[in-house]
Amino acid sequence: MSVEKICTKCNEVKPLSDYSAKFDGKYGYNSRCKVCELLRGKKYKEENKEKISRKNKIYNKKNKKKLVKARKVYYLKNREKELERSSKWKRENRESERVRINEWRKENPIKAKTSSKREAKEHVKNLTNSYMKKLLCRDLLLTYQEMPIGLLELKRTQIKLARELKKQAS
Ligand SMILES: [Zn+2]
Repeated sequence: MSVEKICTKCNEVKPLSDYSAKFDGKYGYNSRCKVCELLRGKKYKEENKEKISRKNKIYNKKNKKKLVKARKVYYLKNREKELERSSKWKRENRESERVRINEWRKENPIKAKTSSKREAKEHVKNLTNSYMKKLLCRDLLLTYQEMPIGLLELKRTQIKLARELKKQAS
C-alpha cells in the first residue's frame, strides 16, 4: 500500500498525512488534500455568505427557545460569579477598614475614647437608626440584616414616650 496519494484537485502527490480521514472516501481518505479542502471551504463561505447567514438565521429562529435558555443559563452562571466577586471584595474591604480604624485607635487612644463616647452620646440623644438597631438586636436577638425597618420607628416612638413620661414625673 502506498503511503502517498495524488490529490484530485491540485494533482500533486502528497503523503497520506496531508489528507484528512474520511469514512466514505476511497481508501478511507479524502480525495482532495487538506490545503485544497481548506481553500474549497473558504471559497464556499465567500461565495455563499448570504446563504450561510440565511441558514444561520433560520437555525436561530428554529432554536430560539433553546438559545434563549442557554444564554440565560450562561448569564445566571456569570451573575453568580459576579455577585460572589463583589461580596468578596466588600468583605475584604470591610475587614481592611476595620483594621485601619483599630490601628488609628491604638495610636490615638485618648482621642478615640472621647470621640467614640461623644459619638455614642449623640446616637442616644438623637435616637438614630443605628442606635435603634443596636437596642433591637439586643432585645430580639435579630441581626442588623434581619431587622424590619418599621420596627426602628416603633422603637423610637417607644423611647420618646418613655423619656417624655420620665420628664413629666420628675
Ligand atoms: Zn490538493
